[in-house]
This record gives sequence, C-alpha cells and structure tokens, in this order.
Amino acid sequence: MVIDTAQQLLNAALAVPLQRATTALLARQGIELWIRRDDLLDAQLSGNKFYKLFFNLQAARAQGFQQVISFGGAYSNHLHALAAAAHRYGMHAIGVIRGERPAHLSPTLQDAQARGMKLVFISRADYDRKTAADWLADLQARYGASYLIPEGGANLLGARGMQLLGAALEQQTGGDYSAVCLPVGTGTSLAGLAAGVDRRKPVVGFSVLKGAGDLGGNVAAFYDALWRDWHEGAFTSPASASALAENWRLISGFHGGGYAKKMSAMMFAFWQGFERETGIPLDPVYTIKMVWGISSLAQQGYWPRGSRLVAIHTGGLQGRRGFNCP
Ligand SMILES: *Cc1c(COP(=O)(O)O)cnc(C)c1O
Repeated sequence: MVIDTAQQLLNAALAVPLQRATTALLARQGIELWIRRDDLLDAQLSGNKFYKLFFNLQAARAQGFQQVISFGGAYSNHLHALAAAAHRYGMHAIGVIRGERPAHLSPTLQDAQARGMKLVFISRADYDRKTAADWLADLQARYGASYLIPEGGANLLGARGMQLLGAALEQQTGGDYSAVCLPVGTGTSLAGLAAGVDRRKPVVGFSVLKGAGDLGGNVAAFYDALWRDWHEGAFTSPASASALAENWRLISGFHGGGYAKKMSAMMFAFWQGFERETGIPLDPVYTIKMVWGISSLAQQGYWPRGSRLVAIHTGGLQGRRGFNCP
C-alpha cells in the first residue's frame, strides 16, 4: 500500500476494522467493547508507530534529508516500524540502541537490519545523553546529516499522526461511542488521539510505566499545541486554549509492575483468557495492560452500563517473539 499523503493515510485509517470483543465479564457489566485493529493497518507498518512516523518522514523529505536517526531498545516497536517505513520511502535509517551489541540480535533488530537499518550500539551512559546538543552534533558528524526522530516518535509531528487517527475514528463511527482507550508510553499518542476526536469524548490512556515522571505534563503540552494549531485564530491567547476542559485522562494503576517487567501469573492468565474468548492477539508490553485496565474498571463499575468503548490496538505484536506467549 502506498501512503504518501495525509489523505492516503486518512484513507488507510478509515479502512482499519473495528472488531467486537465480547467477554463474559464485559457482558455481565453491560459493556460493549470494540477493538480498532490498528495492528492490521499494514503488514509491516503496524500500530500507532506508523502514525507517529508519518509526518516526521514527510518533514525529513521536505527538508531534503535522505537519512533519519532514532533511538530505542532491543525490542523497540518504534525502531522496527522506522526501519520498515524508511525502507519503503527509500530513505536510509540509523537505529541507535542502548547497550552493547549482543552476540545474537533480537528478532526485532534482525528485522530492522534486514530492512536496511544500520544498527549502532552505545553505552547506557551515552544513551542517557542522547538529547544533548553536542552529543547529537557528534552523531551527525559521524554518520552524516540526518533528520532526528526522538525515541518512540515522541514529538509534535508524532502526535499529529495520531490526531489523524482520531479524526478517522470519528468519521468511521459517526461519533456513536462513549469513550476511547489506548495504552500509554510517552503519552504522545494519547495527546494526538484526544485532539483528533470530538472534544466531548473522553480518551482514556492506560500507562504501562510505573514511575511515569511528568507524563501528564507531556500529554498536556502536545495536546494544547495541537489544539492551538488546528484552531489558529480562535483564541486570543494560548492561555485561553489550555483553559478549555481537556478530554483526556491518564490511568496508572494497571502497569503490572512497570515497562517490560516480568508479567504476573494473574495478568498472564487474563491474557490467555482474553485471547481465547475474543480471538484477538495482544502484545505483552502495551495492549494487554490496556485491556486488563478496561476489564478491571468494568468490574468496578467505572463504565456506566450500556457504554460502548473503543480500544485502539496500537500494535506491538512483533514483540511477542521471544516472549513466553499464551
Ligand atoms: C509505543 C507504543 C505505545 C505507546 O505510545 P506513546 O505514544 O509513546 O504513548 C502503545 N502501544 C504500543 C503497541 C506501542 O508500541
């Protein structure tokens, strides 16, 4: 599939299926759950990462760059998607990875390398400096002029891609849903999605991180910036934009120990049960925690009976390899 323009991305987003997920628990609580299968967006460009990369890669090309650099860990969905996207657009990609080059590359990095990504391994200490200007200048001097994409695609252009997903969802459903849910890492996707859907619709993000730092602050900053951009001129000052009620919320009780930590037996059993009941595969780092959160809140009566929830399947299924899956 060719996705070169925002219109083509919107068309692809409109074609993403919404699949009903029925479980005994949700049925008992009178909750309808629909999973938006963004993991099926494209065979190689799965989930939220391609939305987050799209406007970045457009900007890179518009600015005349042939090469992009980004950062991640050995199982990074972001680097996996970046390698595939850069390959498709005929660009060079460099993936900077935290830690020493292992004797055996993870399946994720094997795929990235097979798609032409150059892998550069750096020490953890250097990795922590990856946003410092002098360090980045060094990197460019070494590998050539490159468009820089932050780890996880966490910038405003990334959020803008997810805003487009929100607009697609709104069109697709005609607004006939109660709330949207998604898993949260950096919060970029949550901000974009909330700015893309009808402002009266709550967008509920489930954080997969334990100590999430100023996650809420990040979400608010992207959200306000997108909102101002889209409604330029409607406000007299930026302050009046942020004074509007925000339609996103962040829930942090379902991280299951933290990012990519060993899964508890209880969550593992839940994962197995959900896949058996619905036939929908989940990933071990993100989507399982969202669905766990949605179901737990349903059990507690958080969602009113008769709610129709849409959950975004943000992908990450490539990360199942090497994980002990149900
Ligand atoms: C990266 C990722 C997320 C988190 O996205 P953010 O924009 O960083 O919050 C959620 N789900 C999956 C599968 C991901 O790969």
